[in-house]
Amino acid sequence: MKKLSFLFVLAVCACALYGRNPKYVFLFIGDGMATPQRMVADEFSRKMGRGQLALNTLPYHATTRTNSTDSLVTDSAAAATAIACGEKTRSGRVGMDSEGKRKLESVAYVARRNGKKVGIVTSVTINHATPAGFYAHRPHRSQYYAIGLDLIGSGFDYFGGGGVQKNDDKTAPEYKGDIYELAAKAGYKVVRDKAGLLALRPGEGKVLAVGAKGKLPYSIDAKGDVATLAEYTARGIELLDNPGGFFMMVEGGAIDWCGHANEAAGNLHEVLALDEAVRVALKFAEKHPDETLVIVTGDHETGGMTMGFAGTGYAMYMERLINQKCSHDAFAAKIKAAKKAKPDFSFEDAEKLLTENFGFKFTDDPKKDPMVVNAKELKMLQDGFKKNKLANAARLVMAGKAGIGWTSGSHTALPVLTTSKGAGAELFVGFIENSDIARKLKTLL
Ligand SMILES: [Zn+2]
Repeated sequence: MKKLSFLFVLAVCACALYGRNPKYVFLFIGDGMATPQRMVADEFSRKMGRGQLALNTLPYHATTRTNSTDSLVTDSAAAATAIACGEKTRSGRVGMDSEGKRKLESVAYVARRNGKKVGIVTSVTINHATPAGFYAHRPHRSQYYAIGLDLIGSGFDYFGGGGVQKNDDKTAPEYKGDIYELAAKAGYKVVRDKAGLLALRPGEGKVLAVGAKGKLPYSIDAKGDVATLAEYTARGIELLDNPGGFFMMVEGGAIDWCGHANEAAGNLHEVLALDEAVRVALKFAEKHPDETLVIVTGDHETGGMTMGFAGTGYAMYMERLINQKCSHDAFAAKIKAAKKAKPDFSFEDAEKLLTENFGFKFTDDPKKDPMVVNAKELKMLQDGFKKNKLANAARLVMAGKAGIGWTSGSHTALPVLTTSKGAGAELFVGFIENSDIARKLKTLL
């Protein structure tokens, strides 16, 4: 017995010396982020003088299969459940098995059981599928109100980012009152703006900090009045840091939304926003190199994005995406407002807005200036204008000019890349399943 306990102590010491059991764990998830999304943002970042993406510099790599139990093409709920809990499930399920009967335990709960504080951060709504996979147990992701109740019930230390979707849904069978009020009653300090976030200090207790009613603004539209994903991550570190360590999941959720919209510039700006948050974690890791693990993965690919487009042949022109000044949503809103202000708003009027927001030019020769629209692109824009879908046409013309192709408005089965650095990172290599991420993490926590 003595010999056995001696061996056990030896093993624990060896583990500690080897640095495999991280005290601080960051798990970053780019929703809809596979290799194409990482590399489009990477090439753009280099072109703009920002250098390579930090999330692509992490030394350990694993190609990661993303299928759910019912489809090769997963949704975010099944993927989040697999990444968080270590078991694949049906699309739509949140923290539950395929039958929707058995609750699964996420790495966040395991971390908390082992004395760590827990933070959940996202750029979309805090009760959306990906964050929910870490704290909720519901048969379907659409049960936003019930997932909000699970958020409160988790007792996790920090929730930050986008707002609670359907927070006061009186039609929900479980309705008990507004989620924000219930959270406050349960001991959460609730802050709902940037000033509130910045005023938070360590020792605050449990925190629910949201920056918007719904998702945070698209990064490409951000004006500085709403805290960024990186700012929510930085504040999370301050609030969670303690002698027991912490686990923090940070989701770049709107990469997926821009993928569904086939919008290249918006997509890469969301990846850059996630990369800024990763940089915050890596800076923290520099101070605690032997005790910190940083993992960056995606839950699935969205849009069938690729680098290369028939129209541009053997070339890509990433720098042309700098001409896009706002998201497709913001552009659609501008068009709507312009039409309201001028009932006989014509395509010629729209041209001015297209020039301002996408850099498209309608005079001169396309051969002399690549931002001049050619006959085919002009027809796409004119058709889009006629069908009241000009924003849609504009983002596709933009993708074509940059040399980016899209094959789908949905998710695809393309594997994602998992990169990692720090204590225990050597476990995340090879060709793995998304569920392996939680299984490996559980052995480290
Ligand atoms: Zn999606």
